[in-house]
Amino acid sequence: MASTQGKKRPGSGTAVRHAAGRRPRPNASGSGGGRKTGPRDSVFLPLLTVWIVVLLLLVIVLYWTRGSLFRTAVPGAKGRETAAAVPAPERQASPPKTSSKDSPPPSSPEGSAFETGDKKGREGETPKGSAVVASVPKVAPEPPVAPLPPAKPPAGRAALVIDDFGYDIKIARKFINLPVAMTFSVLPHLPHTEEVAALASRHGHEVLLHMPMEPHGYPKSDPGRGALLVAMTPQEMVAEIDKALKENPYARGINNHMGSKFTEDADAMRVVLRHLKERGFYYLDSYTSPQSVGMAVARDLGMPCLKRDIFLDHEPTEDFVRRQVAELIRRAKIEGRAVGIGHPYPVTLKVLEQEAETFEKEGIEIVPLKKLLDGPAAANGGKAGA
Ligand SMILES: [Zn+2]
Repeated sequence: MASTQGKKRPGSGTAVRHAAGRRPRPNASGSGGGRKTGPRDSVFLPLLTVWIVVLLLLVIVLYWTRGSLFRTAVPGAKGRETAAAVPAPERQASPPKTSSKDSPPPSSPEGSAFETGDKKGREGETPKGSAVVASVPKVAPEPPVAPLPPAKPPAGRAALVIDDFGYDIKIARKFINLPVAMTFSVLPHLPHTEEVAALASRHGHEVLLHMPMEPHGYPKSDPGRGALLVAMTPQEMVAEIDKALKENPYARGINNHMGSKFTEDADAMRVVLRHLKERGFYYLDSYTSPQSVGMAVARDLGMPCLKRDIFLDHEPTEDFVRRQVAELIRRAKIEGRAVGIGHPYPVTLKVLEQEAETFEKEGIEIVPLKKLLDGPAAANGGKAGA
């Protein structure tokens, strides 16, 4: 708009100059003897005044047009300057801006105005754009910080329970030295029962009582010394539990060794779990029978409980254990928590040593078993009938 005005004015100016160009002739001849000829003077003087007035008008017009051009050009130029100056730090800051976009609540409303204003400013110099650009400096000092890694919550938590400790102290020591939180479930009445329980506890690992219980196929299938049998009286059951706990005073939880028959018996399970609940124990159902009523009885008693999700090594090969570890991770991601049970086999030790970093990479936090009871996920430890 301003530029077209500016062009028109010089055009009219030249028109005037043409008119004036004709005048110098009378002016030039008039300078010699203009005063002598009266009628010529009478024509010349008004012409001169007209010429001067025209010149003055021309000067005024030129001054006005240049002035107005200048005036209109300045804000535009200024706007362009700031618009050009602003995106420079702004562009550097754009990566953190997108990250702040990922987490919308903390970013101020100014921040979002800043973003849209910037886009408009680059597309075209609309007055709106320049108006938003003016608000930029408020936000500009904030962004130059490198994008913060978002505080990632763990994808899930898992517990690694190793059953059947008490036979071999050497392998137990190796499991104790694994760089992840292990849960040691120790059988009663074995050569190294007390030693393994004490050692694991001293190293900060969690300890369980791995209570032998009657399996289907008993006595051919032997759960070992001190096993709980469905034919026992409640007193006999309680006495067996207390004997086992004397050797393993570090235990705060119990899980069943074998017990496919015993855990299907609600009355027997009620006797056992009630006794342990009174001592502040929690219950891990090893889930050796799909008909186990352990979880249902524990819940009924108001006892903290959870259920084994994955057996890690019932096929003791490296490939199999690795696949089971991957499955444990998958389960922990889906359900928020998962319990894996393994055994003190060299292959299990080897795979856990190798996979210790995988848990971290996958965002899975390996925790002592009882920590899984704290979260809300502990409530879904059931599905025992599944
Ligand atoms: Zn066992």
